[in-house]
Amino acid sequence: MELEKILKRKFNYSSFRFGQREIIQDVLEGHDVLAMLPTGGGKSICYQLPSYIMGGTSLIISPLLSLMEDQVQQLKKNGEKDVIALNSFLTFYEKQNAVKELRKYRFIFTSPEMLQSPLVITALKKCRISLFVVDEAHCISQWGHDFRPDYSKLGDIRRTLGNPPCLALTATATKQVIEDISTMLLLTKAKRHIYSVDRKNIAIVVKKTNSLDDKISTLLDRVQKLQGPGIIYFSSRLWAENIANYLLEKGIKNVAYYHGGMEQEHRMLIQQQFLSNQLEVICCTSAFGMGINKPNIRYVIHFHLPSQLESYLQEIGRAGRDGNKSIAILLYSPNDEEIPEQLIHYELPPTQSIRTILNSLNEKLKNNGNLHITRETEEEIINKAEVNENYWRFVKHQLKEFNLLDDHFFSEEIAIDEVTNNISRIIKQRMDLKSEKLLFMKKWLFSNLCRRENILRYFGEELLDKPAICCDICSEDFLTFETQIKQEANTTITDWREELGRILLKGE
Ligand code: ADP
Repeated sequence: MELEKILKRKFNYSSFRFGQREIIQDVLEGHDVLAMLPTGGGKSICYQLPSYIMGGTSLIISPLLSLMEDQVQQLKKNGEKDVIALNSFLTFYEKQNAVKELRKYRFIFTSPEMLQSPLVITALKKCRISLFVVDEAHCISQWGHDFRPDYSKLGDIRRTLGNPPCLALTATATKQVIEDISTMLLLTKAKRHIYSVDRKNIAIVVKKTNSLDDKISTLLDRVQKLQGPGIIYFSSRLWAENIANYLLEKGIKNVAYYHGGMEQEHRMLIQQQFLSNQLEVICCTSAFGMGINKPNIRYVIHFHLPSQLESYLQEIGRAGRDGNKSIAILLYSPNDEEIPEQLIHYELPPTQSIRTILNSLNEKLKNNGNLHITRETEEEIINKAEVNENYWRFVKHQLKEFNLLDDHFFSEEIAIDEVTNNISRIIKQRMDLKSEKLLFMKKWLFSNLCRRENILRYFGEELLDKPAICCDICSEDFLTFETQIKQEANTTITDWREELGRILLKGE
């Protein structure tokens, strides 16, 4: 059957978006595929549609619980029953039941962490996995901005599952990251579909202010005037909360904050309210947004300077997924660049914390003979060493890499000095890399070159076709552009036929 017909029948879309068809065809021909489509480009269809044709089970590895839940909900809305998110949201019994019945699912969403469980792997081995999908695949690379150590084991997991065809998807990856994804996931023979990261419907603006106060009042002014909905990014939880409260005090309606320090249920609620247009503005940290499938976000404001262009591009890419005009504004006040510099320093454990963690491990080992690292022991170590959970996770990962910790089992005393030095060396390399990325970000910020052209150059691309309203360097006429955004938003009526079709499809 023609692919277009299946697209219409299953998803009620009339045509493929740029790149989708080519990716889907290669997947259907059984090739491994590495695809980069910009945020909002429609990556999900690239595995969902082939799954319906190929049968069997598609295993989708996704970095975030909220992202997984969102994808599951969308498939369910679309009438799919055989879909499950295998993650820590499930209770012990739910997980056991799910694992028993894994074979019946067409789509299994899971996290790299869950794939560390032998129980899950054994169950997956019994399924006919027709596609191994790695979503947000840049997380696999130590050069990628969301590097997640557990992602780096996916190559081995794929092998354990009998090397099913793999589809790696990402929205922002430099050439180096693409090579890393390819090596780690054993994609040497993969077909590559690398499309431009450029989003022409998003104007890119840097607004330099004179002081912090000036920046806050500029923010208020923009939020009052711009067409919403909008997202405002902050580099700290406290700032996100304070500015959300400030905006509410100033009479802006439907504002909320969102960050990783909130209870999971509270976060889900805020996300849901934003998706269903009950909220107009979200003040958040980078914890918000990955996989947010909201087509009509009209602006993304950065109140603080992001630490790298990859994150910046991914965050602004959440605007204008419907293809309509949108704007990204980065607010800058003097010395803002010091914040990401400091953050880089606090992200990974200092030598003293590594030592204390290792000492408490040795001490526990001495008392117990050998040590099974359960959730409880982890919490004890975190409390005893007075470190944050991320520091512990990082050290634990390194201990595994050095073969000092085997599947949560620890039996040999650690040579503290030697191991601390080895871990510190790795930290230094990662910090150097992060500092280098920050340097690019700063160069971009202070450069007089077209913002878009400069971003594309960083990703190894050339700007071939500049949009009429491009960036603050190329054009000053943003007031007209902002008015256009408003007009367009008010006159855009969703294609009612597609919308109606989707409603009817749900009832099938
Ligand atoms: P990405 O993961 O690349 O950011 P998604 O897969 O979430 O993007 O898709 C973004 C939006 O585009 C979704 O609302 C999706 O339903 C819609 N979409 C995807 N493909 C098409 C298509 N061919 N025609 C119309 N809308 C599409």
